[in-house]
Amino acid sequence: MNCIIRGVRVLDLRVGLDAVGQDVWISDGRIIAIYKHIGEGTLPVFDLTPPRGRVPCILCPGFIDLHTHVREADPDGADNQREGVSEAIASAAMAAAAGGFTAILTMADTRPPVDSPERVAAQTFRGVDTPVDMFTAAAVTRNLEGDELVDIAGCARAGAAAFTDDSRNAAPPQLLSQALVAAAKIGRPVMVHPEDEALIAAAGGRACNAAATSIRPPIVEDRAVDFAISAAVRAVAGRLHLQHLSTELAVQRLRLAKADGIPVTAEVTPHHLGMWLPLADTPQPASLGKVNPPLRQERDRVALIQALRDGLIDVVATDHSPHRDTAKTGDYETSTPGFIGLETALSVCLTFGGMGGDWIPVLIERLTTGPFNVLGEAAGLREPRLRIGEAATCVLFDPAAEWIVGERPLLSGARNTPLMGAKLSGKVLLTLIDGIAAYRDWERLPDTAAKMVEGV
Ligand SMILES: [Zn+2]
Repeated sequence: MNCIIRGVRVLDLRVGLDAVGQDVWISDGRIIAIYKHIGEGTLPVFDLTPPRGRVPCILCPGFIDLHTHVREADPDGADNQREGVSEAIASAAMAAAAGGFTAILTMADTRPPVDSPERVAAQTFRGVDTPVDMFTAAAVTRNLEGDELVDIAGCARAGAAAFTDDSRNAAPPQLLSQALVAAAKIGRPVMVHPEDEALIAAAGGRACNAAATSIRPPIVEDRAVDFAISAAVRAVAGRLHLQHLSTELAVQRLRLAKADGIPVTAEVTPHHLGMWLPLADTPQPASLGKVNPPLRQERDRVALIQALRDGLIDVVATDHSPHRDTAKTGDYETSTPGFIGLETALSVCLTFGGMGGDWIPVLIERLTTGPFNVLGEAAGLREPRLRIGEAATCVLFDPAAEWIVGERPLLSGARNTPLMGAKLSGKVLLTLIDGIAAYRDWERLPDTAAKMVEGV
């Protein structure tokens, strides 16, 4: 790629750069220059200067997703042979790039789970040739059952960037403390899906699958957050990361923990920031709107947005959860929770999630620097920066462009989203990784630009 992208707003928040009207010169995949007006000479120009009154397109480092479920694990596994996989690693990578993500962390709850060094190595290897950087999370406990820790040091050596039993939370606080201590020695965070399985079971639900809101009231999350934080206190060492917070109660508990200096970080999903607003009640079938933790009340949504804005919540993460159509077409009680989110994350945050307008730089920080800091340098993630002279790993998006979900086929291997048919604002135009286009929206790029990057 050899061109000038003209007239964009450039955000590189690790160094406090937020500048409008910039030209970005990319040559042979590297960023050569970023400044006010670059004479084009013989270079093709990709002119995105906005008409008067319209907000500019934004160029920023590629997004990092700390919470992607893929379904591809052992292709010979009995479940996969019988049912097929709803999301292969390759399709998850394409969906990620379409959403502006250049790095994703895949969860360990595949079948079988990623709970040994051998499985970590195999899962990491599967992601090597994809268009985005794939990082593997290993389970905290064997088979996610909360009884026995995995070989944490061995899994890290095999490539695990983090540890989580996500979709389950069976480990008692004492075992979680041990995991935090062990992970701290090799500089990895331990991530917790904060739902109290004992409370869910007492309400008559199966821990891993039942999802009726009635058996997942806010206390289910609050108690799990409390246990996880107490485990972090007991561990003294280690970095605890709380996944997909969904309630005002959890936000309050996080605030107290951070005020006490406990090393804890947290994420929120686009769907909990948006709670889908009017869409929440209307997906057809209704089971498309089922997710763990459930979509909650307006006061929870407001608390989550405020916490994300002020930095109490560190990260926006998708909880991208692909499922086959058949898993989402039954009745609500028995259908599988979760929906896909990589391709709609940015747009949902901008459209429903309270992070548009003046909050865009904060949102970008929570999609880049926030997750980078949670994983830490030891995980081998590239720093989300736009450095002169280095390979361009970045996303270009138009925050004002409107699109309809499903008007073009989504790139995920699954289609389970209650947003199908919804009009969203904010569209990724181009995702570059090491200067290579991992995603491009030709329809929204000028013809000249299309010709320009065709040879990439
Ligand atoms: Zn989860």
